[in-house]
Amino acid sequence: MTLNTEDILKNLNENQTEAVTTEAQHALVLAGAGSGKTRVLVHRIAWLIAAEYVSPYSILAVTFTNKAAAEMRNRIAFMLQREIRDMWIGTFHGIALKLLQINTEAAGLPKNFQILDSDDQYRLIRRCLADLELDEKQWPPRTIQAFINDQKNDGLRAHEVEDFGDHNNQTLIKVFGHYDDHCQRAGLVDFAEMLLRAHELLLNDQAVLQKYRQRFSHILVDEFQDTNAIQSAFIQLLAGAQNKVLVVGDDDQSIYAWRGARVDHILDFQNLYANTALYKLEQNYRSTQTILDAANGVIANNKKRLGKNLWSAQEKGDPVGVYGAHSEFDEAFFVGEKIESLLAETTSADDIAILYRSNAQSRLLEEALLKRSIPYQIYGGLRFFERLEIKDVLAYSRLVNNRHDDIGFERVINTPTRGIGLKTVNLIRNYAQMQQSSLWQAAQTLIQEKKLTQRAATSLAAFINLIDELESNNQDQPLEQLFSDVIERTALKDHYLKEPPEKAQTRLENLDELINAAETFVISEEDAALGLTPLAAFLAQVSLDAGDTSQVNEPHVQLMTLHSAKGLEFPVVFIVGMEQGLFPHQNSMEDFNKLQEERRLAYVGITRAEKQLFMSYATSRRMRGKINACQPSQFLREIPKELIQQIRGNIHPTQYVSSPQTRTPYQSQRQTVPDSPYQIGQTVRHNSFGEGVITDMSGKGDYLQVLVQFNDVGPKVLAVKFAKLEIL
Ligand code: ATP
Ligand code: MG
Repeated sequence: MTLNTEDILKNLNENQTEAVTTEAQHALVLAGAGSGKTRVLVHRIAWLIAAEYVSPYSILAVTFTNKAAAEMRNRIAFMLQREIRDMWIGTFHGIALKLLQINTEAAGLPKNFQILDSDDQYRLIRRCLADLELDEKQWPPRTIQAFINDQKNDGLRAHEVEDFGDHNNQTLIKVFGHYDDHCQRAGLVDFAEMLLRAHELLLNDQAVLQKYRQRFSHILVDEFQDTNAIQSAFIQLLAGAQNKVLVVGDDDQSIYAWRGARVDHILDFQNLYANTALYKLEQNYRSTQTILDAANGVIANNKKRLGKNLWSAQEKGDPVGVYGAHSEFDEAFFVGEKIESLLAETTSADDIAILYRSNAQSRLLEEALLKRSIPYQIYGGLRFFERLEIKDVLAYSRLVNNRHDDIGFERVINTPTRGIGLKTVNLIRNYAQMQQSSLWQAAQTLIQEKKLTQRAATSLAAFINLIDELESNNQDQPLEQLFSDVIERTALKDHYLKEPPEKAQTRLENLDELINAAETFVISEEDAALGLTPLAAFLAQVSLDAGDTSQVNEPHVQLMTLHSAKGLEFPVVFIVGMEQGLFPHQNSMEDFNKLQEERRLAYVGITRAEKQLFMSYATSRRMRGKINACQPSQFLREIPKELIQQIRGNIHPTQYVSSPQTRTPYQSQRQTVPDSPYQIGQTVRHNSFGEGVITDMSGKGDYLQVLVQFNDVGPKVLAVKFAKLEIL
């Protein structure tokens, strides 16, 4: 079939066409968000195949996620109307792994080498510490893990790390070396090793290098601003003097410095690669002018930028809707309500995304969507109650609630490890089957009948004791007390803390959020009438919600962290939690470079929106068990005022007082809900919780909910229809 190459160019502007058809050896497309960089890359590949008769076999394309790779492959196949099997397209890790698998021997690996995930790596590091007789307290395994991975990301082996002569550094280097020796002997490859080893493979084996240099005449990389040292070196080595490299990226969207990515690689590209043509794309096709101006307003506050002129031919569009919520509940309510009204118009759920800074923020948003039966998915992650740490704590709680819960038992019997091995677990399983009993009963019988080794019996008895104590200590205690007890007494917290820092932090934030959920949980009248305990009611609610998953093909709202939104676009975007300390994140506020990276993340978030953008903050939010008064994010104030429509509240508080006419109808409706006697600030009394003050309200009619700060029991969200509150 002959292919009309003009078709490949027909939907490109002049600058894009120049980049796609470039005759320069190397090309750098440096342009702002939504200007068609990814589109250029995809069309360039199609162009190479159709117009320059380059075999797909000779093309290597690097994307940021596996999903993006699959999408790109499809788009090219569609454009060319044929399959393009031989082309290599994938993430840096995927490509490195493939190289190692094909060239195991040259890479110095056994045929059946194994991949070490982060947990395996951690465990191995602990073993190495034991081998070297180093105390884990003084040498925390996760610090060592981070050290090793950082060095590898920078392309360094143990003997290459600079030895400053200080004991601390020397010890780190020693463990690194020992760990690497062990991996080598056992044929183990961790994630950072994949890249380093693939780079070394090319560096040390001329035959292999020549083979791939000859093969990949064209190398293309998307999101180049987020490459780390070893990735950048890998591309340079493979390119050699002859091959052609095209990279696309945006210095303003570099958001992975914390993983070793360096924006310098894109800034230095022209120096590293002679004969580079630079292409700048200035037209943004994604967003309205308003959204673009908002993004530009924010990013203009960063220093050391290349600077770009980005414009949109699209209409001005709606202003950015900013909602200042009373609390995190009110925020989630706003998002749920707004989405419901959008869906009632013409918007499809697929067109909507909710972005947040921290994973734990998803819980209340999920709840708000579930309440309205709006299908949703967590992009690239798990729903709140499906997350490992949440399931662990709930599994313990389920056992406390019902000892015969076999699933809970299996999950936590040896999590965290307490010396109950698979052999013992199998024995319990078989015994339970034989005597037709629960695992719990079987375990007890096995102990009584002395059918276990002394060691196994002691560990198992301690486990049984632990669960019994968790129950007896928490009789008549609030639910949150049980959850925090589980977290502390089972040593789960320490268990997660041994993981790499970012992962551990996310898990602990999720656990904090679980405590928040328990604190504000109120058992419904129906459940109470059925005689359910708050724990049983809470667990039942979680199971019900978990069963409420939408069909795969059904349109659904996407929830995701700002980091995982990179490269994506949606007609309607909500960015929630726009507060100082949350976004910019607490850990980044004091540090100039980190703050700049947070701002780039805000820029990434804003530029995901095509038509409508809503941003929200709460003036009070529960975090780590405390209610904090919160300030709107500085990034909100960096958006030019005239682009914002303040739906409620005011990010410029001084004006708020002096110009009451800026209050919107929505706002007054929120302070006092029509046809309801309740108001924010009112003191109320509840039959069992006592006195408290209403600090937030959401919903109307039968769905009206209030958040009450009770003097004795803290905050509770109550449906007024059932709560029978007395106004004092
Ligand atoms: P990001 O920086 O967020 O990764 P990007 O620069 O890669 O963005 P693309 O995702 O390639 O931008 O393009 C943004 C949107 O604009 C896409 O929907 C794309 O299809 C559209 N687009 C790009 N160029 C054109 C064009 N010439 N005509 C019409 N639509 C275009
Ligand atoms: Mg892109």
